[in-house]
Formats: sequence, structure tokens, C-alpha cells
Amino acid sequence: MSVTVETAARKTPAAVIVAIDGPSGTGKSSTSKAVAAKLGLSYLDTGAQYRAITWWMISNGVDVQDAAAVANASAKPDIVSGTDPAAPTITVDGADASGPIRTQEVTAKVSAVSAVAEVRTRITELQREIAAAAEGGIVVEGRDIGTTVLPDADLKVFLTASPEARAARRSGELKGSQAAAGLAATRDALVKRDAADSSRKTSPLAKADDAVEVDTTELTLQQVIECVVTLVEEKRAAR
Ligand code: C5P
Repeated sequence: MSVTVETAARKTPAAVIVAIDGPSGTGKSSTSKAVAAKLGLSYLDTGAQYRAITWWMISNGVDVQDAAAVANASAKPDIVSGTDPAAPTITVDGADASGPIRTQEVTAKVSAVSAVAEVRTRITELQREIAAAAEGGIVVEGRDIGTTVLPDADLKVFLTASPEARAARRSGELKGSQAAAGLAATRDALVKRDAADSSRKTSPLAKADDAVEVDTTELTLQQVIECVVTLVEEKRAAR
């Protein structure tokens, strides 16, 4: 019976569901990908899905400040995520969206789109389908994974870092005076986006009560990865 098979799959030691939430620039993506690769789990970047739907809205002339227009169009784009942590992919209506979703325009507009309830319902459904299909287990990163999308996750981690550390990581590739200007602008943009994500009505950025909080301000990426891998292994051992 398929129910038995599914239950058996979820009981294998590898089949853990890990939710990693936190604001921008805390190392969520790098950590989540590395942890998934190391433990043989699938990986889902939920921010990429919200960026993808935002890109579709912009490309199709939908005013992202018009919540009703965004809600009306929210079912239209076909968004598909590939969950291999070594090479995650995202397509919109069959086209590779991995480049376009990282533009400044999408970054500036994604919080308005992700605050629309109809968008969240649609994307949350996709996320739950992907997690359910990942029989070997999955690491899912985002803002509301532990609180709303997968409240029964085996492990919930909430990554934080000071705004200065987060901005420095984001603008690390710039040099000289450009770096100073880039740092201030990056910090302001991050703080603004986090404020919008944390204050929206529908499933805001928040730490679940049962999440383990890890402040990454003074940690290297390698240390954060090791910390999360240890937390997953402890969960597995406790089963
Ligand atoms: O993680 P990333 O910076 O790519 O996320 C982009 C945006 O997607 C966030 O600023 C937020 O508005 C939205 N998002 C969300 N819920 C998630 C993941 C991302 O609202 N689970």
C-alpha cells in the first residue's frame, strides 16, 4: 500500500525535514545548500519562488503596488524549482529565471508581491508539494517555513546577524569608496526589506517558538554549516 511505503520512507534516518528561516544576508542560502549537499538531502530556496513570481509580474506589466492586480494574476505563472543542492534551478513558464530573479528591480519589488495573501497561498502550496515529494528529506529555506509552511519540520533553525555583518557580506565584492557607498546602500535596502517582510499581515518573517536561533555575526560560513549539520545529526540520533 502506498501509505505504508510513504511512512517507511519518512522513517529512514536520512528523511529529515529541515526549515531554515531568517532575514536577508544571514547566510541562509549558502548554509542550506551546503547542509543539504553534505547530508544527501534535497534543497528548496523559497525566496527564489517569490522572486520568480515577482519577475513574472514585472515582465507582464502588472503594477506590483496594486495588490488586487497581483492577486488576480497570482495563479498564472508556472513556477518549477529543481531541488538538487549542487545545481538548484528555477523556471517560469519553462524559461530559466535564475539570472533575472537576482536583479535590483526584482529585489526592490519582491516584498510587495510576497505580502499578497493569494501569492502566499499559491507559493505555500507549491512548497508543501515539493517537500512531500522529497522522500529522502529536504532543507527548505525562507522566512515562514518553520511557522507556516512546514510547522511539523523535524528541525527548525532561525539564523540572525547584525545588520552591519549582513550588509558587509552582501557588498563584500565591491572595492574602495565604492565599497563604502555600497555598504551603506546595501544596509539600508536590507533593513527596509526585512521591515516589510516582518510587518506584513500574512505569515511574516518570524522565529518559530521551537526554532533554534543561531547568531552568525561572529561565525564563519563553515562554522554555521557545521553547527546546523550537528543539529540535524542530533535530531536523527534522538529518533
Ligand atoms: O531569500 P530572498 O532574499 O531571495 O527572498 C526574497 C524575498 O522573498 C524576501 O524579501 C521576502 O519578501 C520573500 N520571501 C517570503 N517568504 C519566504 C521566502 C522569501 O516572503 N519564505
